[in-house]
Amino acid sequence: MENAREKTAAVVLAAGKGKRMNSDIPKQYMMLREKPVIYYALKAFEDSFIDEIILVTEQGEEAYCREEIVERYHFTKVRKIVPGGAERYFSVANGLEAVSEDCAYIFIHDGARPFVTEEILQTALETVRPMTRTKELAEVIAAAMPVKDTIKIADENDFAVSTPRRDRVWMMQTPQVFSADLIKNAYRMLLEKEEELRESGVQITDDAMVVETLLAHPVKLFRASYENIKLTTPEDLLLADGILEKRV
Ligand code: C5P
Repeated sequence: MENAREKTAAVVLAAGKGKRMNSDIPKQYMMLREKPVIYYALKAFEDSFIDEIILVTEQGEEAYCREEIVERYHFTKVRKIVPGGAERYFSVANGLEAVSEDCAYIFIHDGARPFVTEEILQTALETVRPMTRTKELAEVIAAAMPVKDTIKIADENDFAVSTPRRDRVWMMQTPQVFSADLIKNAYRMLLEKEEELRESGVQITDDAMVVETLLAHPVKLFRASYENIKLTTPEDLLLADGILEKRV
């Protein structure tokens, strides 16, 4: 019973320009089978055990999002719509500020990943919760999948310099799930040290990296799905269409 009362929040990111998509419309609002891309991730969270959703949009698009997405598709769990920032991590920081104080776990998710499922969300919760209880390993878990291709690290002139063992290399996805206090603390520290980190060449590209870098905290990976893709470049839309076709 105690478990059932722990509140969970989702911060769903839909800010940023998504330049790699080469489209006039931001990728999160492009239509996939008559629904905007962002609809699909919000629907998965709305239909799940998640208690509240914080939607982060591009500054100035809050009203559009409220009317055309949240009200139009009756997303009742979206408690706040907040503006994002110039980098993904600023958007996350704004989203975290808006989460209710009494939430125990926060799921951070890219709105550009439409194919997150109830099963992935459930696995995430079941992975993070017992670990937090026993303080056994991690209060941070991240959706990921093992890579299929060989990965090479290259130098600035595109010469390969090393080849990591393929069975130890994973592609990171979202959702990434955190104890609320831990992630809020890590992001507070990130904002304090942001300039210093940027100047030393650190590029923060996911949330797990924030707790690894700022708190030296372990991150446990869990297998999500190869279908849990992020729409980034135009060919991803073809894949997305195929995945949706299979699901209908
Ligand atoms: O395109 P990219 O991989 O950076 O986007 C990942 C997710 O982060 C997308 O859902 C996008 O809407 C979000 N994002 C954001 N604020 C930014 C950049 C990206 O919310 N400044």
